[in-house]
Amino acid sequence: MKMRISFHTLGCKLNYSETSQLRDQYEKLGHEIVPFGNDTDAVLINTCTVTENADAECRKIIRKIQKISPKAFIGVTGCYAQLKSDEIATIPGVDAVIGTSDKLRIDQIITDYSKRNMPEIHVSSVDEAIFSFSQSADEDSRTRAFLKIQDGCDYSCSFCTIPLARGKSRSLDISEIPKRIRQLEEQGYHEIILSGINLGDYSHDDANFIDVLNLIESFDTKARFRIGSIEPNLVNESLLRLIASSNKIVPHLHMPLQSGSQSVLKRMKRRYKISKYYDNLILCKQLMPHACIGADVIVGFPGEADQEYEDTFSFIEQLPFSYLHVFTYSERDNTPAAEYDDPIPMRIRKLRNARLRALSDSKRRAFYESQIGSCHKVIPESFDHSTGHWKGWTENYVRVQFRGSQFLNMQPYVVQLDQLDHLSGTVISTLLDEPQLSNGYLQLSVI
Ligand code: SF4
Repeated sequence: MKMRISFHTLGCKLNYSETSQLRDQYEKLGHEIVPFGNDTDAVLINTCTVTENADAECRKIIRKIQKISPKAFIGVTGCYAQLKSDEIATIPGVDAVIGTSDKLRIDQIITDYSKRNMPEIHVSSVDEAIFSFSQSADEDSRTRAFLKIQDGCDYSCSFCTIPLARGKSRSLDISEIPKRIRQLEEQGYHEIILSGINLGDYSHDDANFIDVLNLIESFDTKARFRIGSIEPNLVNESLLRLIASSNKIVPHLHMPLQSGSQSVLKRMKRRYKISKYYDNLILCKQLMPHACIGADVIVGFPGEADQEYEDTFSFIEQLPFSYLHVFTYSERDNTPAAEYDDPIPMRIRKLRNARLRALSDSKRRAFYESQIGSCHKVIPESFDHSTGHWKGWTENYVRVQFRGSQFLNMQPYVVQLDQLDHLSGTVISTLLDEPQLSNGYLQLSVI
């Protein structure tokens, strides 16, 4: 029976990629996909469990669905579902809980979407999980797509539940990658974001992540490639030189830092010294002065003394970071850090977070301003009818807007970065290319 179904995603880019895959599967089965928040017959929620906040958010969403569509079937999948299936099953309104191993098979597992008296639970061990492929559009983008080539993680950072939720590291067969790139190109994507939980740990037979990048380098494609995120211990000189000399892999490094204090990194059981992070960053900027460098940071880790936090702050302040993703530490069950002494009061965690976010804003602004006057390739993504502006990203991850016809072809254009729009947080740019006429109409204007 055909039905209306909507999806909601929490958490990381990989989750978004997998939800898109699910959406495609249901669409192919003939169901109508409706935007989340509209009346519907079924909802699938793809959850995250990185922080306590993510769990609370999931519960809030379930309550919201029950108000909008009281008769809708509610299925919960993802990392929270994998780790706390019993807890989710007790939430009123939930009809099915599906673990991470079966996430991309929900359409086969659930065939009846009527409300249940008792939720059904499909959660199996992730120990033997195999690689499940997904590729998908970035949200709201017809030009950027995620290509998942790796899943799971073999590391044991003391705060992290991801290895428990997603299992061991596993990777897409390298021989599959050209075919997948070609498919995305044929679908009209110009930017492909290589995605994984611990992407740099890619390993299939004898191939490693550098082999994947070399393969992309030698592959006949016009697409550009972005490395989603890479652990600092897996970054080295040859990787940086490869990116620096590449015409396909863009100069954007997202390297989780987590803390700028050596003692905190040790308690987090991270696999690098702060000096290694520093060396990577400096070499990256030497080889690619215009590179964008982003980092994840956790504040309020157990025992994080004032001085350790200040070490983190000044480490970031003195270095050319372009932006931060700041997370407030929260205790997660079954992680060593949850048992550590000296938890930091929540009030202090929040203050530390706010201060680092402010630092991130000023870093992003400084990075954007440093790019004013330079020319970059941008792929148009979305058109704002009220302003007549296109939005998109440069290769070095500057969010830009430029004026152009709404009928502009969705292909890369060269823009000159003119000025920072402090209100929108984007850079206002001038389109320099001679764009192709589309529908016999094209307007180019300089702002
Ligand atoms: S590298 Fe550490 S933080 Fe990242 S997924 Fe693996 S265990 Fe978690």
